[in-house]
Amino acid sequence: MVIKFAKRTELLKPSPTLAITAKANALKAQGVDIIGFGAGEPDFDTPEHVKEAAIEAMKKGYTKYTPVGGINELKDAIIEKTLNDFGLKYDRNEVIVSVGAKHSLYNIAMALFEEGDEVIIPAPYWVSYIDQINLTGAVPRIIETREEDEFKVKPEQLEEVINERTKAIILNYPSNPTGATYSKEELEKLGEVILRKNPNMWVISDEVYEKILFDGRKHVSIASISPELRERTLHVNAVSKTYSMTGWRIGWVCGNKEIVRVMTDLQSQSTSNPTSIAQWAAVSALKGPQDKVFEMVRAFEERRNYIVGRLNSIPGVTCFNPHGAFYVFPNFSKCYGKRYKDKVINNSLDFAAYLLEEFKVAIVPGEAFGDDRCARLSFATSMENIKKGLDRIEEAIKALE
Ligand code: PMP
Ligand code: GLU
Repeated sequence: MVIKFAKRTELLKPSPTLAITAKANALKAQGVDIIGFGAGEPDFDTPEHVKEAAIEAMKKGYTKYTPVGGINELKDAIIEKTLNDFGLKYDRNEVIVSVGAKHSLYNIAMALFEEGDEVIIPAPYWVSYIDQINLTGAVPRIIETREEDEFKVKPEQLEEVINERTKAIILNYPSNPTGATYSKEELEKLGEVILRKNPNMWVISDEVYEKILFDGRKHVSIASISPELRERTLHVNAVSKTYSMTGWRIGWVCGNKEIVRVMTDLQSQSTSNPTSIAQWAAVSALKGPQDKVFEMVRAFEERRNYIVGRLNSIPGVTCFNPHGAFYVFPNFSKCYGKRYKDKVINNSLDFAAYLLEEFKVAIVPGEAFGDDRCARLSFATSMENIKKGLDRIEEAIKALE
């Protein structure tokens, strides 16, 4: 039977980050000694009090539909958190809770983008932005950032690409996959160009890694730079990374109430509310003790220091020192053109396949993030695994001729 799929699915690819993790897990289940650097989620457990809150919610009978955009208790917890952390005040009708930040971003794309629109994405980018934009018929406009510029987009670059068709820019800081983040001054400069060049465009600010920052850095949201930028910004956040709650699927958007209303309508016709008990767990995560977050960030920082040091000590490899999140994005391109037995490594896909097949190490090829010179390693895995994995990578690179 020939199935005629809708045109919108023509460019659709499965999420490569989820696919690599699934492949590594399947090999592990078969007993293969795999070191997985694929995971896009903290390796820590969800804090106990958060689990207790979900159990409590079930016992209280909070197991039914909730308001589509989230229970007021969660909206209020988000409002309080956003005010305390960024000095940004939102009303309930400016907040919508969805099934993870991925769903929040999808709803934004569905509400705003269409054929004829351009959406600016600085590369390296998180894998799902491109597919979500493609699904709407809009066109992603990629800005290549450079390792020498700490993988940050520069105001001059924005100046060049923004035009009257620009509907939005998606900024993700700290970034997945590079770990780069922006200072207040840098955000001010980007904001100035945005407001001047196209005052009608939207800033989709994906801040899901805001709490995972190193070297004493403090996160600044672009929405807090000026009232004008607050107006134009859709602030995207989630409990997924901060509280090791990736499986609970709770994310949210704070921003323009008209957009929130349309996103809520979309949600009412697609998923309805996010899971009731997960919402109560998220309330507890946001309002409860935060010590587990600090513990996790300390562990990530220690691992980052080790992994960056090790990678930079391998001849031919360079690795940017991430400011936050739990990924490194080293440049392996000096390995390209080399061979192992009869196999030639020509790009990041070949390199990742070589590591997986010959040395049992799973990484995500940089191609998926729009930079084929690099690959992503997640350090959301134990120090022991990191050491073992790095030994294997070093050995693999030495074995290339
Ligand atoms: N944005 C970025 C940059 C991410 O890395 C992720 C990770 N999955 C998401 C959004 C989606 O997060 P969630 O699990 O809350 O859907
Ligand atoms: N965001 C994570 C990652 O980049 C999880 C996987 C996904 O949602 O694609 O690996």
